[in-house]
Amino acid sequence: MSATILSGSELAKEMRQEIEADVAEFVGQHSFTPTVAIVRAGEDPASVSYSNALEKSFGARGLGFQLHTLPDIASQQEIEELVSQLNANATIHGIMIQEPLPRGIDEAVIKDALSSDKDVDGVHPVNTGRLAQAAPTGRPAMVGPFFAPATPSGGMEILKRNSVNLQGKHAVVVGRSTIVGKPMALLLLRENATVSLCHSQTADLPGMCRTADVLCAAVGRANMIKGSWIKPGAFVIDFGVNFVEGVMVGDVDFEEAKEVAGMITPVPGGTGPMTNIMLMKNVIAAARRQTE
Ligand code: NDP
Repeated sequence: MSATILSGSELAKEMRQEIEADVAEFVGQHSFTPTVAIVRAGEDPASVSYSNALEKSFGARGLGFQLHTLPDIASQQEIEELVSQLNANATIHGIMIQEPLPRGIDEAVIKDALSSDKDVDGVHPVNTGRLAQAAPTGRPAMVGPFFAPATPSGGMEILKRNSVNLQGKHAVVVGRSTIVGKPMALLLLRENATVSLCHSQTADLPGMCRTADVLCAAVGRANMIKGSWIKPGAFVIDFGVNFVEGVMVGDVDFEEAKEVAGMITPVPGGTGPMTNIMLMKNVIAAARRQTE
């Protein structure tokens, strides 16, 4: 069996048109442009290339983009002051703090300093808390509006747009970071999947993975999840971004896995392109929320 390849690049192409239409409608109604501010302290190469990519994609869709950089010797207070200036700036609707922050900076305090209404990558405790407390989709939410992190939201969008019914399915998420694995588990739970969240201390990880109808990998270890770990016909979402001899690969051994899985996202061209799309959607939603 050879899996259906779930192309995030193709889906992102489709969704870019939806975003352009949303931006045009928003600007027509409000006469200003939803704008994101990216905060970076230092010149981490992956962060630099990510903010360059964001600038290009936001600009191409007609969204506003500002990059605010500080040197890697920036103090906690300088970063917090920049965040509070951006919070108070009514022309900025979304703020994203790039990680890693310089050594010695307390990331939790910086996330706390963000306005939760502008926290378009869903890292502020109000947003993470509301995601954790939100009732399953379809029931009254029981919490105020919130933003979920862009990367897992992109994975969910791939599942949704490929009509994957999650109800009652066993979803296994490998990786429990606050930005990918944990929110992915909560998003799957909201869609009525039964969720197992695995990590480096999980006993018999291959055995756990083999029980997954939906397997999501957010580990950061090249090709770790083997074909023999995958239940035949499973849906596999690979968030991993790793480089082996200069070639980008995921956390899932794609060549093996595609012979067993029912559907699988490739790396590159899977979850990666969807992250920008979901961030843009959140910036438009933030601008609406602040305006309407
Ligand atoms: P983190 O390093 O923050 O978290 C990694 C998680 O994997 C941890 O929970 C860790 O467990 C777990 N883990 C590590 N080794 C093992 C192992 N041998 N077996 C089981 N679990 C293990 O990573 P992120 O969540 O930030 O990123 C994960 C991957 O996703 C990376 O490749 C990253 O580059 C990629 N990524 C992709 C994005 C995209 O747009 N597609 C965006 C953001 C990240 P423990 O908690 O026990 O330490």
